[in-house]
Amino acid sequence: MNSFEAVIFDLDGVITKTAKVHAAAWKAMFDEYLQERAKQGKEAFREFSYEQDYLTYVDGKPRYKGVESFLKSRNISIPFGNPTDLSKKETICGLGNRKNEKFVETIEKEGVDIYIPMVKLIKELKEKGIHIGVASSSKNCELVLQTTELDQFFETRVDGIVSAKLGLKGKPEGDIFVKAAENMGVSPDKAIVIEDAVSGVQAGKNGGFGLVIGMARENNEEDLLRNGADIVKKNFEGITIETLEQWFKKKNKL
Ligand SMILES: [Mg+2]
Repeated sequence: MNSFEAVIFDLDGVITKTAKVHAAAWKAMFDEYLQERAKQGKEAFREFSYEQDYLTYVDGKPRYKGVESFLKSRNISIPFGNPTDLSKKETICGLGNRKNEKFVETIEKEGVDIYIPMVKLIKELKEKGIHIGVASSSKNCELVLQTTELDQFFETRVDGIVSAKLGLKGKPEGDIFVKAAENMGVSPDKAIVIEDAVSGVQAGKNGGFGLVIGMARENNEEDLLRNGADIVKKNFEGITIETLEQWFKKKNKL
C-alpha cells in the first residue's frame, strides 16, 4: 500500500514532447499577427519571445486565455469573438484557432515524441493499480494520446474539451486537477500532480494536492518552486513508485 492513491499528469511537456510544438505554433501565429499590425501602422513589430512571452503569459493556459493574456501584456485589445470563429478572423478566438491549425498541422506531419522515463513510470503505476489521470488545458489532448497510443493507460482525462463542456476554470485554478481526482474517487490531498508549467503547478497548489512535482524542462526550477511545486526535477530517469512514496511521505510528514 502506498500513502498516495493517484497520480495526475499534465500532458504537454510532461508525458509528450509537445510543449515545444505548442510553443512554436504560438510563436508563428503571434509573429504573423504582430507583423500584420505593424504593416497596418498600429505599432512597431516586436517579436513574440519564448522566455518573456510564452513562459509568462501562455504556457499551460487554455487556448483563448493564452491569447488574451499575451495581447493584454502588449496593450492590444480586440474582441473576444466566438470559439467557432474562423482562424482568419481578428478576434481572440480567431487567433487561438489560427494557432491550433498550426499545431495540428505539425502533429499530423511529424507525429509526437514521448518522454520515455515518464511513460515507464505510468506503466509501473498502472501495473500496481494506482489511479492515473491526465489533466491538460489542451483541446488536442485526446488526439495526442491516441497518436502515441497512451490513451489506454488513463482512467480519466480532463482536458480543454471536457473543461469547456463542464465550465471548469482553466489553470492556474485547480478545477481541472480536482475534477480528475473526483472522477477517480480520490481526494486531492491523497493525489500527486506532475506539471511543467508555472500555471500548472499553481493549479496543483490551488487544488490542495498532496504533492506537486514540477518538471523543469527549461531552466525554470526556481519559477516552479516559487509558484507551488514541492519538488522540481529536470528529468524522471530512475524515478519509481518508491521515489514518489518517499517524496509524498516527506511532504505530508507521514
Ligand atoms: Mg504542460
